[in-house]
Amino acid sequence: MLNKAPRGTVDIYGEKMEVWHVIESKIRDITNKYRVKEIRTPMFEHTEIFVRATGESSDIVTKEMYTLYDKRGRSLTLKPEGTAGVARAFVENKMNTKELPQKLFYVTPCFRYEKPESGRQRQFHQLGIEYIGTPSVYGDVEVIQFGYEFLKSLDIKNITLEINSLGDKECRSKFNDTLQKYLENKVELLCEECKERYIKNPMRVFDCKNETCQEELKDAPKITDELGVECSNDFKKLQDILSKLGIKYVVNKNLVRGLDYYTKTVFEFTTEYNGKNITICAGGRYNHLMKELAGVDLQAVGFGLGIERLVLLIDNEENRNKSDVVYIGSIGDEGKYKAIELGTKLRNEGIAVETDIANRNIKKQLKFADKIKAKFSIVIGENEVVSNIAKLKNMDTGKEEEISLVDAEALIKKIKGE
Ligand code: ATP
Ligand code: MG
Repeated sequence: MLNKAPRGTVDIYGEKMEVWHVIESKIRDITNKYRVKEIRTPMFEHTEIFVRATGESSDIVTKEMYTLYDKRGRSLTLKPEGTAGVARAFVENKMNTKELPQKLFYVTPCFRYEKPESGRQRQFHQLGIEYIGTPSVYGDVEVIQFGYEFLKSLDIKNITLEINSLGDKECRSKFNDTLQKYLENKVELLCEECKERYIKNPMRVFDCKNETCQEELKDAPKITDELGVECSNDFKKLQDILSKLGIKYVVNKNLVRGLDYYTKTVFEFTTEYNGKNITICAGGRYNHLMKELAGVDLQAVGFGLGIERLVLLIDNEENRNKSDVVYIGSIGDEGKYKAIELGTKLRNEGIAVETDIANRNIKKQLKFADKIKAKFSIVIGENEVVSNIAKLKNMDTGKEEEISLVDAEALIKKIKGE
């Protein structure tokens, strides 16, 4: 117990952490370019927020929430997703009085009680963007384009963009009636969960992973074919613009997304991993969420992206941050002091430096330099302390050259290859 993290959680460190840093730095780059601003909301909210936002019948609410009661008996829930907290914060902080749309992003741990497997954890991380206050299909386009550019910047191969439209409230309620009728004779064949969905929200049956349920849906009517004029036009427009932008997509009429709050556009970026199709980024438009949750009638669009799944896909040598390290070995207190002095000057110039703080003999120090793949090494022993001349060794080529310990500027130029 004491030496094991809870099931479904992992420690992130070492080389994996470097991949995270690459992802995080790309996030900063792209959010700057699209002028999307960061928001950080609390790790837990009143449970009701998530129930209202994701819907009573969603998997999250029915099975996956980490809910706890505090000492006053309040029901609080660890964030299972990022949107609901942002919507709450948006209204509470009156962001609707600022310029619209507000383009926000978050990177946050999320918590869901699920069966852990590759790429599926109980604590995982989501990057999400939310464009709040955009009724236009061009908002959908920018959000999709953002996701596409981001995945491309990470060199993710074989990305497929799947899109669909779920219509607005009107198309949806009409369609749910139609689908309910269609499923009437098949209810007994559906899984237990879908029997429930059939009553509460038939469309969600499309989201079931059970093969029998999928089989029963093969000839079912699809909402995409039954959209009203406005929704249908928007969906055509979206496809038209994506085509013009050269963003390849496929229409997946079975795509309904797991959360109840979506309207009109929904989309997923998927890719292959170990022969399986996995979703890495998923989102859509949610035109009623802000009103229902927080009483502000603003239309919005966004996506959520699982960072762990990205890490699985880019966990290779190339994507690690490689910064050149200079190892300054030393002998004796005077040598060590000079090493610190020189190290400080190099670090001030942005160079990564390691010195001996483990009291190793010089042989072991150089072994350590090898182990950490230092690009250069310098050794400061008694002679070097007196003469202020030392050798700079390029650890890749083995080449050595004399350098002056008092002329840090020249040394820095050499190290930087200027
Ligand atoms: P799935 O069908 O895979 O369970 P979902 O519909 O529950 O996905 P969303 O709620 O849309 O997923 O979350 C957005 C993204 O967050 C997913 O596409 C996925 O990359 C990631 N994600 C969701 N649940 C987990 C989890 N338990 N562990 C790791 N990543 C997750
Ligand atoms: Mg899920």
